[in-house]
Amino acid sequence: MADLASTCKDKLAYFRIKELKDILHQLGLPKQGKKQDLIDRVLALLSDEQGQRHHGWGRKNSFTKEAVAKIVDDIYRKMQIQSAPDLATRSHTGSDLFRPKDEVNDSFQPQPVTKVRCICDSKLLNDNMIQCEDDRCHVWQHMSCVLVPDKPTEGVGPEVPPHFYCELCRLSRADPFWVTTGNPLPPLKFMSSGVANDGTSVLQTVEKTFQLSRADRETVQRSEYDLQVWCILMNDKVQFRMQWPQYAELEVNGFAVRVVTRPGSQLLGINGRDDGPLITTCSREGTNKICLRRVDNRTFCFGVRVARRRSVPQVLTLLINLVEMIGIRCFLFLFTYLSVAFLHLTGP
Ligand SMILES: [Zn+2]
Ligand SMILES: [Zn+2]
Repeated sequence: MADLASTCKDKLAYFRIKELKDILHQLGLPKQGKKQDLIDRVLALLSDEQGQRHHGWGRKNSFTKEAVAKIVDDIYRKMQIQSAPDLATRSHTGSDLFRPKDEVNDSFQPQPVTKVRCICDSKLLNDNMIQCEDDRCHVWQHMSCVLVPDKPTEGVGPEVPPHFYCELCRLSRADPFWVTTGNPLPPLKFMSSGVANDGTSVLQTVEKTFQLSRADRETVQRSEYDLQVWCILMNDKVQFRMQWPQYAELEVNGFAVRVVTRPGSQLLGINGRDDGPLITTCSREGTNKICLRRVDNRTFCFGVRVARRRSVPQVLTLLINLVEMIGIRCFLFLFTYLSVAFLHLTGP
């Protein structure tokens, strides 16, 4: 029995308040308290001294230890398995995108849930981590890397948002007509290097290379795929949209690529959002060079992704799935999605 308790303890260590409350709800126990209190409350049911007596939750709790362990295990699995249908956030690497659902379930092995993927490229954990809340992502990132204060000069730390999504999950929700299937150039932070003496922004350039395998090249040349450069403003008030810096200029393998159609000084494009330019035609197998210039001292993040186009029926199915999956919170996404969808449908 001690084994049951220790396995559950290991699993509970990965749970967030949300999952812990979910368990307590299923067990009919109070949900208030600090995280450790919630964990202890569940573990008490698994201890040999019949914890409910110690904790005074009365006798109404009639769950056996096995039943409690099963509830813990179910939620633990739910946190790990990507069981939902094709969604915008389906894959960051593309590696599991084409795997049938059954295969994902059959090959399930408990994996450590703590995965760190940050725009600084470091995989080290520190004391100030924040987790992406997307159910199929849950990556941890360094707060100092991804939370950007609105006014950095005032020395006030950025606010921790109530709902945090990593940049790839934000991107995935920015346009329902594209689903990411690969990231040849992973997200890169494009920070301000300061302002000129007269207070104006200075021109900044970032140059990077990324690799495309022969298979990648063949994929992006298929009609429903494209290679896309994307960019988001790190502390954008609207989480799920692309936004390019002011006076952004892009070059891919020496070819100038038009980033936005708006004037360089204007913020955002039509409908308060920007798009990601497609660079399939100027890409090549092997090493590709990308160069981004801007005159804008805000902090952005950009990258290159392989994306597959969704059809209108697929997007509608996606919307319905979203409503079923996340209920009321999806209204935010829905609003974003529908406005983009409307643009696509009414566009040229
Ligand atoms: Zn970092
Ligand atoms: Zn994420």
